[in-house]
Amino acid sequence: MIILLKPNATKKDADEILNQIASLDLKPLYMPGLERTVLGAIGDERKIAELHIENHPMVDNITPILSPYQLVSRELYPKDTIVNIDNIPVGGNNFTIIAGPCAVENDKQILETAKIVKKYGGHCLRGGAFKPRTSPYSFQGHGMDGLKMLHNVSKILKIPTVTEVIEVKDVEAVEEFASAFQIGARNMQNYRLLKAVGKSRKPVILKRGMSATVVELLLAAEYIVAEGNPNVILCERGIRTFETATRNTLDLNAIPYIKQHCHLPVIVDPSHGTGVRDFVEPMSKAAIACGADGLMIEVHYNPKVALSDGQQSLFPEQFAEMVKNLKPFIKAAGKTLSIPIELK
Ligand code: PEP
Ligand code: MN
Repeated sequence: MIILLKPNATKKDADEILNQIASLDLKPLYMPGLERTVLGAIGDERKIAELHIENHPMVDNITPILSPYQLVSRELYPKDTIVNIDNIPVGGNNFTIIAGPCAVENDKQILETAKIVKKYGGHCLRGGAFKPRTSPYSFQGHGMDGLKMLHNVSKILKIPTVTEVIEVKDVEAVEEFASAFQIGARNMQNYRLLKAVGKSRKPVILKRGMSATVVELLLAAEYIVAEGNPNVILCERGIRTFETATRNTLDLNAIPYIKQHCHLPVIVDPSHGTGVRDFVEPMSKAAIACGADGLMIEVHYNPKVALSDGQQSLFPEQFAEMVKNLKPFIKAAGKTLSIPIELK
């Protein structure tokens, strides 16, 4: 609920209302502006109704927040949020490319792939150490060893890293060794995990669940922000539909919807969205055109020997060509490739 106070309302009036809100165990928000003060009450709007705040003489207007999410809503925070992955800004007018293999396989693979990512314009290196695989017989990742390999390459090449965390018990280690958490599609509604990364201040790339609605994705983001971590980046990675020609159906409708309703950055993963390496470039262009703030791309120094998702991983030269081809699209969308912060 958003409460607009009258122009002559004092701080005392605001405090009186905020105390009433807090007395119901709801979260009060105080947003003084140049001309008007806006108050917020976060929580069950039915409870707030009991207070009859509209009766207060200094209340001008009350707008219920119809969306079930509030902290991530543009209604409360109209400006774009920019999230920094180490020194790489994501969101606003920045366009960010996160690329790397599906999984960290060995020292050579992650180093050679990271060199390609960096050389051709990738900003951050991705790579899974803990892999949630559909089949228990598939490669599950190297766990802590993989995390350390990723960290090592990040230090050598000075490139920020993104890696998936699949269990609460690993949050601390991932926080120590990577620049950003990835919460995968299979864990989008693992609320304990969302709360655990919400206690950190490291950026979280939250991927949309394969059967989750956009509103459920925004509610999952709300869990993280409500714990105190505002650094959330949403990622559309395709959903399950009746269509089986491609691995998933990349729901690009989600991008303008999220942009309109939520202030967080949103990136697109066309690698998992299509499952086909030749479709990654066209769908990346489409993602840029509809307002995405960045891309997450699977690339491997030699996809033929990849232990996971080789069929959708770009060859190095394909990645180089794609980044080159995307540049006019990024410009046309009014964005610029992220510039590392200290160089700005
Ligand atoms: C991944 O990024 O490698 C991954 C497992 O993605 P998702 O959670 O979107 O399936
Ligand atoms: Mn993958």
